[in-house]
Amino acid sequence: MHRKTILQAKDDLQKKKYSSVELTEAIYKRISDVEPKVQAYVHLTRDIALKQAQEADKNLGAGSNAPLLGIPIALKDLICMQNVRTTCSSKMLDQFISPYDATVVNRLKKAGAVILGKTNMDEFAMGSSTENSWHHPTMNPWDLQRIPGGSSGGSAAAVAAHECLAALGSDTGGSIRQPANFCGITGLKPTYGRVSRFGLVAFASSLDQIGPMTKTVADSALLMNVIAGNDPKDSTSANVERPDFMKGLDRSLSGLKMGIPKEYFTSGIDSEVEKSVEEAIKTLESLGVEKVEVSLPHLKYSVATYYIIASAEASTNLSRYDGVKYGYRSKKSDNLLEMYMNTRQDGFGEEVKRRIMLGTFVLSSGYYDAYYLKGQKVRTLIKQDFENAFNQCDVIVAPNSPVTAFKLKERIDDPIKMYLSDIYTISANLAGIPGIAIPCGISKTDGMPIGLQLMSRHFDEESLIAVGHHFQKNTDHHLQQPPL
Ligand code: GLN
Repeated sequence: MHRKTILQAKDDLQKKKYSSVELTEAIYKRISDVEPKVQAYVHLTRDIALKQAQEADKNLGAGSNAPLLGIPIALKDLICMQNVRTTCSSKMLDQFISPYDATVVNRLKKAGAVILGKTNMDEFAMGSSTENSWHHPTMNPWDLQRIPGGSSGGSAAAVAAHECLAALGSDTGGSIRQPANFCGITGLKPTYGRVSRFGLVAFASSLDQIGPMTKTVADSALLMNVIAGNDPKDSTSANVERPDFMKGLDRSLSGLKMGIPKEYFTSGIDSEVEKSVEEAIKTLESLGVEKVEVSLPHLKYSVATYYIIASAEASTNLSRYDGVKYGYRSKKSDNLLEMYMNTRQDGFGEEVKRRIMLGTFVLSSGYYDAYYLKGQKVRTLIKQDFENAFNQCDVIVAPNSPVTAFKLKERIDDPIKMYLSDIYTISANLAGIPGIAIPCGISKTDGMPIGLQLMSRHFDEESLIAVGHHFQKNTDHHLQQPPL
């Protein structure tokens, strides 16, 4: 049962092949079998999940066909769920219990989903390997010596290891797409503003987006139908109509143009990754998508720009953790100022402190113009690059990551090397456009999954979904299973 996609399980549940309680129990059994090796979760919500499953079975019996009725799903541990811990994999929030549901959780619950638990991540979503978690690292189900990617590494590993049917992640600079890529699953970062951020613990508010991490593109479309849409509780959530993403799945690809940005295929890309992506491009051509070359000349500035803007926003967002209102408070202080300092010193990990210092520096008087303001200007140039490219094409096709999943500890002591692994994903966040990661091969050198990235215009997730779905109907890369 745990190996099913959402759509398969939904069908089985409607046909009463098994109940939601049986499905949920089967997944908890799978979790107890593989968690000692993978460690994708930080805490499970078994009691809540079983109650939700019982309720779902009742509603199934009564003929309801709510979109996710009885479907077990995992949440990245920075998405708030009422009366459940939301730790952001930080010591700072280790005992924090959310007083309310995030809008996405509210929508999942209304759609009948069963929430299995919270998945591991890099602390406050800062990282590309899930090694920055305060709890423990997560292992890649394809090779337990390797990282699952990050920061939504727990969600990606849980989906790949069939410890849930699907999960939600968040993507500020690639954190859905890169781990999806590294674990051989599908991950969609929606347009900025498409999915409400209410109840998502903020990292960099002008970049953060919640999105689905699934076994197939079709499952992502279904989840998008549930989580997307305007929310008055998030002023940045866009007031645009939510299409029926499922309807777009089989849309014809004829007349569609894909742009291949030459800057994505330069030095630094692994030859196996390049080969698989090129083969995927040929497959798309055979499906009727026309190929054109496009250029994103400012791509080379995206890592620097992102780490200035994201760190600046993080330094202000994280100033709220001072031991007064939320989470951890140091006990070893004699006065208020010491309490603030000791709390932040002990409560945050190394990477988070590095970002806070970097962000405070680029915002400080005398450096603001040279760094933050300049970063914002370059962000505009990157956005314009995409606008120009989308005058020539409908989707951009590129790799997600220059390499496959690296080994645990391989990059953790070299922040610049770690940051550079985000080179292909963060430009979509800076531009606010949607992007999807889809498996497109397995490396012959290390046996690890390789992924394809598709990006499109603002609010045109439907093109990504259509192209991705046709690709999966005509290939079997997404059906490959980790040896776990
Ligand atoms: N790896 C990037 C960072 O560390 C992206 C994180 C994310 O998307 N949450 O900032």
